[in-house]
Amino acid sequence: MLLNVTKRRQLVLVLAVLSVVVLVLVARRLNATKIGGQGPAEPFRIAGNFYYVGATDAAAFLITGPEGHVVLDGGYPTTARLVMASIAKLGFDIKDVKVLLNSEPHADHGGGLAALQQASGAELWASEASADVLASGGDDPDGVLPLRALIWIGVLGYPPAHVDHRFKDGDTIRVGPTALTAHITGGHTRGCTSWSFPVRDGDRVLNVVSACDLGVLATSTYPEQAADRERSIRVLRGLPADIWVTCHARWWGRYRKFVASTTAKNPVEPFIDPEGYRAFLDAAEAELREGRTH
Ligand SMILES: [Zn+2]
Repeated sequence: MLLNVTKRRQLVLVLAVLSVVVLVLVARRLNATKIGGQGPAEPFRIAGNFYYVGATDAAAFLITGPEGHVVLDGGYPTTARLVMASIAKLGFDIKDVKVLLNSEPHADHGGGLAALQQASGAELWASEASADVLASGGDDPDGVLPLRALIWIGVLGYPPAHVDHRFKDGDTIRVGPTALTAHITGGHTRGCTSWSFPVRDGDRVLNVVSACDLGVLATSTYPEQAADRERSIRVLRGLPADIWVTCHARWWGRYRKFVASTTAKNPVEPFIDPEGYRAFLDAAEAELREGRTH
């Protein structure tokens, strides 16, 4: 009897400590998402048929076409409604979005895809490694155990998306004349995908690169990670980029470039930034050499 009481007390104590740990983690997460770029942002045209429809930092892009549109990334689960409002504000119909793409399946880029998919009926394409994570609602086998446990019990994670197609490195996804080439640039996550595509703006064709995150989180690691990052930086260096973006808008200067474009003689000019692209890759390479994590 005495032993039972002691055991029960121990169990209560363990549960209390666990609850505190969960609460702290959830509070940190909520705070991070609040300051982490979930605010509403003005949608705008970057060049030609290429638009920004994301939040302050959690990026999302719209590539329009006569046979249907493409949306790249969905932000957090709560960002999806902002993305839809931005698409409508630009004068496009979410129902005309035929393809959904993703850079990487963490909650800040994959979280809103299920809602966008439901609203549009679009087909989701993902790399093999990203597909499993998106379909499980954010459970990445490379994630650390406490994080995965929080996803399993529904504290973290996001609504699972239905992956319609899995692509290989170098595949091109087409919707009418729109063609985006997938470059699997692993490192941040195994299936991290960069995209390259041409955009016609007036009488010129501009090369766009959406580079995947190249940094490493302490909560997401795998054995081939350093080799993957090395290769990814090399692959990205080989892509011609007049315009470059990433899944975090602050990295490519969304606001700065947007403000500059409102007063520029040619509003596309501030977005043409091959030097910024090289600096981004140089910084990623320095981070890799110094062994820094985010
Ligand atoms: Zn991430």
